[in-house]
Amino acid sequence: MSRDAPDAIVIGSGPNGLAAAITLAEAGRSVVVYEAARTVGGGMRSAQLTQPGFIHDVCSTIQGISVASPFFRSLELASLGVELVHPEAPIAHPLDDGRVALLDRSVVTTAAGLGSDDRRYRRLIAPLVHDADKLMPFVFGPFDPFPRHPLAAARFGFPAMRSAKGIGKGFSGDLAPALLTGLSAHAMVPLHLPTTAAFGLVLAITAHAYGWPVVRGGTQVLADALATRLRALGGEIVTGHPVTALGELPAARAILFDTSPRGFVGITGDRLPDRYRRRLESFRYGPGIFKVDWALEGPIPWRAEGVGRAGTVHLGGTTGEILASERDIAAGRHPERPFVLLVQASRFDRSRVPNGGETGWAYCHVPNGSDVDMTDRIEAQVERFAPGFRDRILATAVRGPATLEADNANYVGGDINGGIQDWRQLFTRPVARLDPYTTPIRGLYLCSSSTPPGGGVHGMCGVWAARSALEREFGHRARRA
Ligand SMILES: Cc1cc2nc3c(=O)[nH]c(=O)nc-3n(C[C@H](O)[C@H](O)[C@H](O)COP(=O)(O)OP(=O)(O)OC[C@H]3O[C@@H](n4cnc5c(N)ncnc54)[C@H](O)[C@@H]3O)c2cc1C
Repeated sequence: MSRDAPDAIVIGSGPNGLAAAITLAEAGRSVVVYEAARTVGGGMRSAQLTQPGFIHDVCSTIQGISVASPFFRSLELASLGVELVHPEAPIAHPLDDGRVALLDRSVVTTAAGLGSDDRRYRRLIAPLVHDADKLMPFVFGPFDPFPRHPLAAARFGFPAMRSAKGIGKGFSGDLAPALLTGLSAHAMVPLHLPTTAAFGLVLAITAHAYGWPVVRGGTQVLADALATRLRALGGEIVTGHPVTALGELPAARAILFDTSPRGFVGITGDRLPDRYRRRLESFRYGPGIFKVDWALEGPIPWRAEGVGRAGTVHLGGTTGEILASERDIAAGRHPERPFVLLVQASRFDRSRVPNGGETGWAYCHVPNGSDVDMTDRIEAQVERFAPGFRDRILATAVRGPATLEADNANYVGGDINGGIQDWRQLFTRPVARLDPYTTPIRGLYLCSSSTPPGGGVHGMCGVWAARSALEREFGHRARRA
């Protein structure tokens, strides 16, 4: 390879890889990003997966985490061509009897729809939403025992330490617990475990405080915007270039890996000290997902009023049902009625579909590496709350764990979070180290979602890793978020 040696190289162009590259370039460093796929973006890609004219988000579609992230909030996304489209309501969670928990941007309006739990929901959620801007640096940081806003962190920390199951027991009705359990289930961790309430609370805070938008035209627009920003800073991106060994790369003072620990071990080979390699090899990956995208001839015919107003719909019924579904997954079983996360982006962004058409995006959790086709079970869950749904399907595209991993090596066994996010591994990912982005080899850093703060499109793993590299390799002073 004849390329001049840049200051830094980033392997992988997911949100964390691009955030790392932008952070380095903003500090005046020359950066080259190598991306295995032909297009930039990792989990921010879009494609016409079903029929011409129907734009589907291949991975992430809801940008509730990115709009809350200090990294994305620091960018002028609108000037980079990104238009965020906010559904009328962020989330709906229908039950079989026709009632719906509708998470509106307003806590008061949401609570008013939760029957006897109106006051309890407000008392739990309103103070956290009020503190949202203070909490986000804490949520998106590596673990900080001395948070900048200790009172806000404590107010969040007490309920967050509980299990999702436990926090649900504090309500008298079934709508509020179902809503919060459904949000916690995004974590893909058994919901009776301590700290699983934290995921539901964080997602509820982001949905109320910042909204859960989609990107007009598809999430790829967001990836392209980050690429534009990087190139404007002098950075370079090489796509269609899987990196398989360190020796392939030009010399650079810092190399940041937006890869899984497994990918990192594969590329660094025998240069890693045995002990560190063994720790990376025992890194635990979480459940996988099975995803379905539909081209539809019209809107999903929801039985309950209000569901059509939401961008995201949680299909899993009551708290008990969701707990059972997630327990099955953790035990290696495939539930008959899986918890399904569905997004109806084209309801709010008509640029994704031809006249009158609609897209549907949905997935359920499956055991890691599963090869079971869950299409029927996912469609049955939609049909359960929207009779006649199947009649509207024009075309279907499915992606199980093997396809996901073949498309993006980071999704080991279909795990989209870069490793299980239970309390043992959330802050100590990939291994317990004072600075988890560093490795025992000088100049090599991990920056993917397998480092804190974990999965989702927020870019903060990349920002923290880049800051660590800037400090250690280039003598820049460290800054807090
Ligand atoms: C189906 C699905 C739905 C999701 N939905 C949401 C959602 O709605 N909202 C949300 O916030 N998050 C969602 N996520 C999760 C989110 O996409 C990821 O957490 C996020 O993309 C992780 O970012 P990353 O930069 O760490 O890695 P990735 O985005 O996975 O990017 C890693 C990149 O590195 C490249 N790479 C890997 N190995 C090499 C190599 N050896 N050489 C060169 N390149 C390499 C890969 O090709 C990839 O482009 C979803 C993920 C999936 C799969």
